[in-house]
Amino acid sequence: MSLRLKLQLVVVADDDEQVSVDELVVLTKDYEQLEHVGLSLAEAKGLLLEVQRQVVGRQIAAFLASRTPCPTCGRRRGIKDHKTIVFRTLFGKLELVSPRLRRCPCQHVAQASMSPLVELLPEHTAPELLYLESKWASLVSYGLTVKALQDFLPVDARLHATAVRRDALSVARRLEMELGPEPRFALAGCAAAYASLPAPPPPITVGIDGGYLRHWERKQTHFVAIVGESIPTDGPAKRFGFVQSHDPTGARAYSTTRNSSSSRMGRRACVSSSAISARTHSICSIGFTSPCN
Ligand SMILES: [Zn+2]
Repeated sequence: MSLRLKLQLVVVADDDEQVSVDELVVLTKDYEQLEHVGLSLAEAKGLLLEVQRQVVGRQIAAFLASRTPCPTCGRRRGIKDHKTIVFRTLFGKLELVSPRLRRCPCQHVAQASMSPLVELLPEHTAPELLYLESKWASLVSYGLTVKALQDFLPVDARLHATAVRRDALSVARRLEMELGPEPRFALAGCAAAYASLPAPPPPITVGIDGGYLRHWERKQTHFVAIVGESIPTDGPAKRFGFVQSHDPTGARAYSTTRNSSSSRMGRRACVSSSAISARTHSICSIGFTSPCN
């Protein structure tokens, strides 16, 4: 005995009128045993993949329809040729057809052709895939990251550890750039203004620790990574990390985390580390060190 279930994607207009109805998957489900109840992992992954294909396909079609007319005169631009863009997402690797549009006759200085989809997708990996790849790669090896993602999600079956490493490094470089230049003073604010400030909130706790890591390329080489976490009582924790022997601007990571966690100048930060003796246990600093302008 079994049930046949047909899952459909219905596109509706603003007035709820149906524009199209497309079949996603057809499930044939038995119901006589415990393992028959509910979706299997393979069915769930297949369904996610098909939903992603259909949703992205309609989004891309709508985007291209809005970009095909010339923005100046509204005339429909001709298609010179098509290329294929591979777009990697958490819910599958998609091959998208990217048309190249001819220059409109009303334009005399524009490029001979342009590809709207290239402008929409300057990167070919979806941000959510980058997010999970980077998050898991910070916790386990690149290889285990691939296994974890492939276990639960319909990611590309040929996803490899080297691709996860490349993506994690690109995210790391972007985060490094967002830190900005090395600050002249580790903490923000002016000490002379402290007396005129209202009472600061309770201190934040900053835990710092270090660990030996093996070099990815030079396997016999190890280095020390410093990692830390600020734990305010009135907000979410923030984490940072740097390699002192590699990054001469490591203070950026600490000061950025410290200043972003301290909503008010003058707030104390208590730093705890196993490197500090048990007797002193922690040291405290006030959130400003720079002189007055
Ligand atoms: Zn035109």
